[in-house]
Amino acid sequence: MQALEKLLGEARDLAARELSPSENEAEVGRIMSICNACRYCEGFCAVFPAMTRRLEFAQADIHYLANLCHNCGACLHACQYAPPHEFTVNVPRAMARVRGETYSSYAWPRALGSLYKNNGLTVALALALSLALFLLLTVQVTGGVLHEPLAGNFFAIFPHNTLALMFGAVFGYAILALSIGVRRFWGEVSPGEISGESSAEAASNVLRLKYLDGGHGQGCNNEDDAYTLLRRRFHHFTFYGFMLCFAATSVATLYHYLLDLHAPYALSSLPVMLGIAGGIGLLIGPAGLLWLNLKRHPLHGDAAQKPMDRGFIALLLLTSLTGLLLLALRDTSVMGLLLAIHLGVVMALFLTLPYGKFAHGIFRSAALLKWSIEKRQPSRLQLGSE
Ligand code: SF4
Ligand code: SF4
Repeated sequence: MQALEKLLGEARDLAARELSPSENEAEVGRIMSICNACRYCEGFCAVFPAMTRRLEFAQADIHYLANLCHNCGACLHACQYAPPHEFTVNVPRAMARVRGETYSSYAWPRALGSLYKNNGLTVALALALSLALFLLLTVQVTGGVLHEPLAGNFFAIFPHNTLALMFGAVFGYAILALSIGVRRFWGEVSPGEISGESSAEAASNVLRLKYLDGGHGQGCNNEDDAYTLLRRRFHHFTFYGFMLCFAATSVATLYHYLLDLHAPYALSSLPVMLGIAGGIGLLIGPAGLLWLNLKRHPLHGDAAQKPMDRGFIALLLLTSLTGLLLLALRDTSVMGLLLAIHLGVVMALFLTLPYGKFAHGIFRSAALLKWSIEKRQPSRLQLGSE
């Protein structure tokens, strides 16, 4: 009986915590009230016109606005109330802190979201290392990590069905966890009805990373007041590099099952060419993002989230590096060694996708879709800029 009462008490505490705003949410509410009176930054991104449709900011509004923010830094450099002003208005930092909270509160399972949020870089690298070691041991036991050249035939090391089963399970888990997370977000922000026009606009905004152009086309801020398009470019290299690698795997799967054409494929084949293009994109993009991240202005974003951001960037870089190296040396005796390391890194990347920067891309896309829906609806206030 006592245990039941304790459990009920804990459930009540949890519900109360979820209903009352956190310190970071209250800070976004405070800043948005100042911005709503000022409105100087209205043209910078979607956050400000979405803000003008509200006079009060409920928890769901704050989560929506936080995920709509691209952390471009433009409003911090433009703001007359930014630190050291006594109002200490720092929109990108306040939004980033709430975003960080939403990554773990929407995550499934939530405990993994919190673990990754607090120790992103360590978790990412430890997971990649353990999986690679496990696969290396498997290769060693079954035939040795160093072997006679096998003409690039990966399936001589890991049978095709074993690989399909391992990656099917990991990929399925990532999709399930991301879907549950985005469903939680979508349900909370009550988006309204999706039309063809709003989804086309949101897709275009996502694919072009429209709001990383700073609202004037010259780009966002990184380390100082100067505008730069580099963040937009490196994000594009990363996103399209990832998509090309995904396309390479999908085409290879179709070759295998539909056309009965089995790997290894020639360098001039479609899956390999897509993989090389994707690998190069995934090398340039994350390397550039890491370089920008290291010299980012200290007032931008939330410094506590840097390990999580860098964990994701590190896994992307390791994926492309090991993948390209594996392709270059696939006809040598170290293919088994490189294959085990590459597969370990890719599995770690997929297992952590639902908890870090990738999830942020999904929530941001959902927030942009909500904005495209919302802006087509009449303002409930009848006094906003829309
Ligand atoms: S960030 Fe500063 S300048 Fe921009 S709308 Fe808010 S208060 Fe005004
Ligand atoms: S940091 Fe950039 S994206 Fe975020 S609210 Fe400010 S201007 Fe908009």
